[in-house]
Amino acid sequence: MWQQGNARSHEGTGQDLCPPVWHKNYPVAQGNRQSPIDIIPHQTSHDPGLGPITLNYDQCTSINITNNGHSVVVEFEDPDDRSVILGGPLDNPYRLKQFHFHWGGKGCHGSEHTVSGNSYASELHLVHWNAVKYKTFGEAATAPDGLAVLGIFLETGDDHRWLHMITDALYMVKFKGSVTDFKAFNPKCLLPSSLHYWTYLGSLTTPPLHESVIWIVLKEPIIVSEKQVHVACMFLLHLKAGELHVIRQLLKPFLLACVMLMALRALGVVMKDLFVAWMGWRYQLATGPTVCAFDPLLLIILMDG
Ligand SMILES: [Zn+2]
Repeated sequence: MWQQGNARSHEGTGQDLCPPVWHKNYPVAQGNRQSPIDIIPHQTSHDPGLGPITLNYDQCTSINITNNGHSVVVEFEDPDDRSVILGGPLDNPYRLKQFHFHWGGKGCHGSEHTVSGNSYASELHLVHWNAVKYKTFGEAATAPDGLAVLGIFLETGDDHRWLHMITDALYMVKFKGSVTDFKAFNPKCLLPSSLHYWTYLGSLTTPPLHESVIWIVLKEPIIVSEKQVHVACMFLLHLKAGELHVIRQLLKPFLLACVMLMALRALGVVMKDLFVAWMGWRYQLATGPTVCAFDPLLLIILMDG
C-alpha cells in the first residue's frame, strides 16, 4: 500500500516544527510546503495512482565522506545514472547525490519527521536530484521538482549489521572540513525490508529551506543498537564541543588583551597617587624645616603603614 500525505493537515504542523528564528533570514520558512512535518497516518490518504519506488544503487559511485561542521555526509559521483531512485511520485529517475543522518543531542531523539508526534532515534536522508531536467545539483535544489529525498527512520533494538561502516568512518573525519575516501559503499545495506512509504511535497529542512523536495518517507524503520546511536551522538556532541573550543581559542587573545588593559589602568591610578604624594612630600621639604634622608617612595610607604 502506498499513501500520499494529506498536505493540508501536514502544512500547519510542518511550520510548527521549523525553528521560529529562521523566517527572519529566510522568508520561505513561512511558506506552505515547509519540512519536516508530523505524519499522522490516519490523516493520510491512499493514492492508487502511486506505484512502488525502486532503488537502483551501484556500489561504485560513493566517493568520499565529509565533515561539514554540522554533520557527516557521504557523497556520490554519478554521471551515468547508476545510482537512482525511480517510480512512486517521481516522473523520471533521480540521481543519488549524498546521504547523511540527523542525530539528536542528549537522549538522541534526532529524527526530523515525526509520526503521530513520536520521534525516532535518528533519521537517514538519501538526497537525489533531477538530472534529467536540470544541469546541476545547485540548479535542481531551487526547483519545485528538483530533489527527491528518501527519509528512513532509525529505531533502537539490535545491532545493525552495516551501520558500523559509517560509525567507524566518523573518526577519519573528526575535524570540520576534513574529507576522506569512502569508496564502494552501497547504501542499499541501510534500507529496511519494506519500501512502503508516505510522500508529500516539502522543502530542505535547513537553510536556505528551498521548497524543492519531493519527500518519500519509509514507513518501516531500520533497527540499530543503542550503542551504535550512542557512538554517533557522542561524535556529534564532540563536533559541537570542538566548535566551542575553537571559539574559545579565538576569544583567548582578546580576553588576555582586556585583562592587560585593565591591569595597566589600575597600575596607572596607583602611579598617579604615588606621584601626587611624592609631589606633596617635595613641597613639604621645600617649605618645612624637616629634612629626611630616606628615599621619598619608601617614606610614603612607611607613612602609609
Ligand atoms: Zn537531512
